Amino acid sequence: MTHLRGEDITREHDCRVDVAIVGSGPAGSTVAHDLTRRGLRVAVIEAGPWREPGDFPLDTFESMGRDYRDMGASVTVGSAPIPYVQAKLVGGASPINGAICWRMPRDVYDEWVARDRRLAEGLPWEAIEAHTDAIEALLDVRDTAAEVRGRKAELMALGADALGLRHRPIRRNVTGCEGLGRCMQGCPKGRKNSVDRALLQPAIERGALLISSMEVAEVLVERGRAVGLRGKAAGGGRVTVRADRAVVLAASAVQTPALLLSNGLRGGPVGEHFQCHPGVSAAGRFREPVRMWEGATQGHEVTGLRHEGLKFETLGFGLGLLASRLPGTGRAFADRVAEMAHWLDWGVAVRAEAEGRVRVLGGRTVVFYSPTPRDIARFRRGVRVMGDMFFAAGAETVDAGVRGFSHDLRSPLELAPIERGGPTSAAAFTAAITHMFGTCRMGSDAEASVVGTDFAHHRIARLYIADSSVFPSNLGVNPQVSIMALAAIAAARVAGEGPRA
Ligand SMILES: Cc1cc2nc3c(=O)[nH]c(=O)nc-3n(C[C@H](O)[C@H](O)[C@H](O)COP(=O)(O)OP(=O)(O)OC[C@H]3O[C@@H](n4cnc5c(N)ncnc54)[C@H](O)[C@@H]3O)c2cc1C
Repeated sequence: MTHLRGEDITREHDCRVDVAIVGSGPAGSTVAHDLTRRGLRVAVIEAGPWREPGDFPLDTFESMGRDYRDMGASVTVGSAPIPYVQAKLVGGASPINGAICWRMPRDVYDEWVARDRRLAEGLPWEAIEAHTDAIEALLDVRDTAAEVRGRKAELMALGADALGLRHRPIRRNVTGCEGLGRCMQGCPKGRKNSVDRALLQPAIERGALLISSMEVAEVLVERGRAVGLRGKAAGGGRVTVRADRAVVLAASAVQTPALLLSNGLRGGPVGEHFQCHPGVSAAGRFREPVRMWEGATQGHEVTGLRHEGLKFETLGFGLGLLASRLPGTGRAFADRVAEMAHWLDWGVAVRAEAEGRVRVLGGRTVVFYSPTPRDIARFRRGVRVMGDMFFAAGAETVDAGVRGFSHDLRSPLELAPIERGGPTSAAAFTAAITHMFGTCRMGSDAEASVVGTDFAHHRIARLYIADSSVFPSNLGVNPQVSIMALAAIAAARVAGEGPRA
C-alpha cells in the first residue's frame, strides 16, 4: 500500500505507471478502483490531504478553511456573486458532502440521447444501471433510518403531505449513522462510506499509488499524446508522473477545464456550457424547539416537483454557520441567536437552464455564471413552496431568505408575492452551488464537444476526462452516484474495453 504525503516530498520525485489520474473525488476514485481491479498500475494525484475521521473539526468555518478550496469562498462572477463550493481533500467532496445518493434519472438520460444519438452507444442505459447497482452496493446506499432523520424530516413530510407533494427518506451512503448532523464537516465517527474509504483505499491496497497534497500544474503532452503529469508537492518537491497508457482528468467540472486551459489545451468548447443546481434556502420558525442540528444532516426530500426542476431537502448546518446567516444586529441579533433552536432551514436544488463558463485569468480560475430570468422564476417558486410547506407543518413565521421581504413572514398570503412579483435578480436570494457539470462536454461532434462518447479527448491521444465536466447537461438530482457510474464506464474505456459492466 503506497500513500506519499505531499508534505513529505521535499525533493524531486519521478515515477512511472500505466495510468495517471488527477483528482481523488467520486470520479477519480472510481477510475482508480476499477483500473486496479483490472491489474493496471495507477497513480492518483490529489491536491488536498488525507483525513481520518478524528481529523474532522467540529467548527464549520475551520472545516471550510482546511478542506475546501479557497476556504470555501469561491464565488461566481455574473449578475450576482453565488458561492460555489469545491472540496480539496482526498476523496474530493465525498467525505464532506451530504451523502445523498440518486441514480441517474432516465428522463435526463433520454434528453441527452435525443440531443446526440451516438451517446446511446457510448453510454448504454443498461451499463449505467449495472454500474450504479455495483456502486450502490460498494457504498451501502440505503434509506436514512427513521430514528436518525430528526424532527426536521418529520416536519418536511408533514408539509409535503399537506401540499400533496411526493416525498421520501433520502437514500445515503452511510452505515450506522448516529444523526450527529456533521456530514458537511466530515463524519467524526467514520460512518459515511465516502469514496476515499470505499473505493480508493481498496485501490491502494491493490497497489495504486496515492500522492496527496500535490497540485498538478502540467499535463505533459508529447507528439499529440498525453504522457504524464507534473506538479509541486506541498513539501516543495517537484513530482513527475509518467503514464505509459493514459492520463485521466477527474479534478471536477471547474478544475478539469481550468487545468486544460492553463496548459493551453483549448481544443473544443473547454470551459463552456458550465451548468449547475443553485441551491436556494429558506427557514421556518416553530413554537417548539426543533434543533435543526440534530439528526442526519440531510435525511428527507420532496421529489414531487422534480418535473419543474425543483427538489427540496432538509438541511443541517453547524451552529456557527447558522448564526452567521441570521439577520439583524445588536439586541435583535442576540434575540435571534437565543431562539436558534426553533428555526429549521430547508433547501431547494434548482435545475437551472443557464450556462456559464470557466476561464483562467491571470492564473486564477474564474466561473462566469448568471441565472436566466426563467431560473430566477424557479428560485421564487421554490422559496414559495418551501414557505408553504413550513406553514403547513406548523411554522409560526418564515424567513424566505429573499432580500426586500420581511424575515418574519406570518402567513402563506404574505409569502405568495415572492412567487408572483418577487425579485428578478439572483442577488436577492440565499443561494450556493455544490453540483457542477458540462465544461468539457461529451459528444460525437468534435467541434461541439471536448471528449468523444468513449471519454477520450477528441484531439489529444491517451487523454481521458472522467468527471462531470463531460455531462451534456445538469441532472436536477444529486450527482455523485451518476458521476461514479459514468466514471466506471470511462475506466472501462481506458482499459480498452466496451462500456458494459
Ligand atoms: C458541500 C457539498 C455537499 C454535496 N452534497 C452532495 C450530496 O449529498 N449528494 C451528491 O450526490 N452530491 C453532493 N455534492 C456534489 C458531489 O459531491 C460532487 O458532484 C462530486 O464530489 C464531484 O465529484 P468529482 O470527482 O468530479 O469532483 P470532486 O469531488 O470535486 O473531486 C475533485 C478532486 O480533485 C482535486 N483536484 C482538483 N484540481 C486538482 C489538481 N490540479 N491537482 C490535483 N488534484 C486536484 C480536488 O482537490 C478534489 O479533491 C456535494 C458537494 C458539496 C461541495
